[in-house]
This record gives sequence, structure tokens and C-alpha cells, in this order.
Amino acid sequence: MINYTNILREHTLKATPQRLAITDVLYTNGHINIESLYEKMIKKFTSISLATIYKNINLMLEHSFIQEVKLPNAKSVYELTKETHSHIVCTTCGSIEDISLDLNKVIMQVSESNAFHTTSSDLVLSGICIHCK
Ligand SMILES: [Zn+2]
Ligand SMILES: [Zn+2]
Repeated sequence: MINYTNILREHTLKATPQRLAITDVLYTNGHINIESLYEKMIKKFTSISLATIYKNINLMLEHSFIQEVKLPNAKSVYELTKETHSHIVCTTCGSIEDISLDLNKVIMQVSESNAFHTTSSDLVLSGICIHCK
């Protein structure tokens, strides 16, 4: 069992019951959007508001405890911060998987050939997952 309290404290976040529950949901689900997170949270904290969820998510983002994954044509999802990686999204069921990909070479090539200074390297590939194939 992972000690979420310590992980939160490492990011100088107080381990409130809501934050522990959010962490648990993120850990179990991998990537989740705010609405789905809210649906899961309301089962445990019947009076929690969507605003409270947003407040906690924003604070966790500020503390780099979690990160936002911007998806094309879909709502952003959130995940616990881990090493740099990219994502692949299933166009049928919308499931998201991590892919480890070293984009540094690509970024260097783009900088050289396009004289463009790259500031972000969010990459989302799309395809059909093993369950939908
Ligand atoms: Zn799928
Ligand atoms: Zn991810």
C-alpha cells in the first residue's frame, strides 16, 4: 500500500482527506478528467462541489504533484507526475496510455531545420487500443 500522505507532503501539500482520495483515484485510474474525477469523489464525499475539486487540482498542479495532459478534441486529463512521457489515445473508447518516447532529438531537429524555439513537447498519438481492435 502506497503512503499517499508522505507523497503529498513531499510536494509540500497537506494531506487532507479529499486530496488523499484524489491521489488514490489518480493512482488507480492513471489519467482522468475533472468530470470523471468528480463522479468518483462525490461517492465518498457526498457534499463535495466541483469547485472544490478544481481548487485541489489547481493546487496540486502548482506543486507539480500532478500534471495536465492536453488532448486534442477532448477534455484535459490529469495524472500523477512521473518522468517525461507522451500519450496514445484510443479513438474508439478514449482510453489513454503512456508511451515512453525521447522527443529531445525531434525537438533538436525542429529547432535546427525550422529555426523554431520549441517550448512545449506535448505529443498525443491516436490509434485503436488492444480491447477495441
Ligand atoms: Zn479502445
Ligand atoms: Zn501519462
